[in-house]
Amino acid sequence: MTDLPREVDVLVAGSGPAGSATAALLARGGLSVLATDRAAFPREKPCAEYMSPEAVRVLARLGVVEAIENAGAAALEGMKLTAAHGATAHGVFSQAGHRPYRATGLSVSRRILDNELVRAARAAGARVLERTSVEELLIDQSGVHGAIIRDPTGQRRPIKARLTVGADGLRSIVARRLGKRTHGSPRRIAFVAHLAGVPSVGSSAELHFGLTSYVGLNRVENQQTNVAVVVPSEHAVAARGRSEEFFWEALQEFPTVYQRVRAGRIVRPVLVTGPFAAWSHRVVAPGSLLVGDAADFFDPVTGDGIYSALRGAELVAETMIPALSDSDLATHGLRQYQRRRREVFAGKWIMERITRYLMYFPRLFDRSVSRLGQHGDMAHTAIGVAGGYVPIRAMLHPAFIARMVF
Ligand SMILES: Cc1cc2nc3c(=O)[nH]c(=O)nc-3n(C[C@H](O)[C@H](O)[C@H](O)COP(=O)(O)OP(=O)(O)OC[C@H]3O[C@@H](n4cnc5c(N)ncnc54)[C@H](O)[C@@H]3O)c2cc1C
Repeated sequence: MTDLPREVDVLVAGSGPAGSATAALLARGGLSVLATDRAAFPREKPCAEYMSPEAVRVLARLGVVEAIENAGAAALEGMKLTAAHGATAHGVFSQAGHRPYRATGLSVSRRILDNELVRAARAAGARVLERTSVEELLIDQSGVHGAIIRDPTGQRRPIKARLTVGADGLRSIVARRLGKRTHGSPRRIAFVAHLAGVPSVGSSAELHFGLTSYVGLNRVENQQTNVAVVVPSEHAVAARGRSEEFFWEALQEFPTVYQRVRAGRIVRPVLVTGPFAAWSHRVVAPGSLLVGDAADFFDPVTGDGIYSALRGAELVAETMIPALSDSDLATHGLRQYQRRRREVFAGKWIMERITRYLMYFPRLFDRSVSRLGQHGDMAHTAIGVAGGYVPIRAMLHPAFIARMVF
């Protein structure tokens, strides 16, 4: 890596969806961009791999939809919910009242998706270094000026940058250096596998809730099914060294799901991740910002972390391309980014909080799902809000609340 630049406009730590999309959009905007990832792509990532039509809109902007569809991505029409006491609801993207980007979302393994996003970043002119970690920030009293990266040979190099983007996920080093990070509750651990031969998995993703756990089923490429079981951390202690056995044990809390999944066979080993809920109190600092999970991630239950990562990248581009073209505007751009995040994600944050709160009260949760099921249009609205294309005011409207309660 002798030809590595010592100085770039933008250094991006992490090249998952948030980092690759940010790198691609900023490079398209004419900035010199260096992105790194400690992993080598393609790589697996524990995730339920569900994307709403709005996530597909950003993927289309990045030019990767055709490639992931050619790789077998499954079209998703919506989401079916089953609560612990049996209530069900089915939200369909195309019926949410606001027109989505297209009628269907997509579902594809992260091995394929993230690799295509890295390719898109490179095609846009960004340089992406794999197996290269960001180890420390170049930071002084005036702000962040880049980072020290460690290449695959173990060599450390300082890279100066006008903007350093933390897109390094849940355990972001950039986020930890910028300020306080809160780890919320409940603390949950996920066990995610791909199976072949699971019967009756249709074109909507499924989410089944138990009293303390939940499980998601979702068709991915090659007629395989992504099965993600999420349990409280204290239960997961029993999984140490035996994650596949634990995966099957945890599934037994959901007898009908267990019967179906048991008919299949694991084709990608169980991957384990968690605990998740973490958010940063400071998403911008002079010379730096956070995007994707590095900024905030609550729980996979509302299912749209990839969308948030991609949409966050759009907000970085919208605010920072004009700001970096004039050094006096950099601080203004960071403020704008923070403001736009609040505008765009406020609805998602409210919905995540409501969902997490309801999950503490299974009876109330059941009743809410039952109401969504009785009034199908409300289920469609809820899935549109979670998917980022229906404004939260549609759910906070007195008529919606009255139908939920009475
Ligand atoms: C169990 C589970 C299920 C989920 N299901 C869904 C779902 O169905 N749909 C959905 O939309 N979202 C889902 N999510 C959320 C989704 O996975 C995340 O929100 C999404 O991956 C965020 O993208 P990101 O780019 O911010 O972070 P990541 O995808 O985590 O990418 C961060 C990257 O940074 C790299 N990195 C980390 N540290 C460093 C470092 N120091 N230097 C260099 N590189 C570094 C990592 O290798 C990684 O590639 C789920 C999450 C979990 C845990």
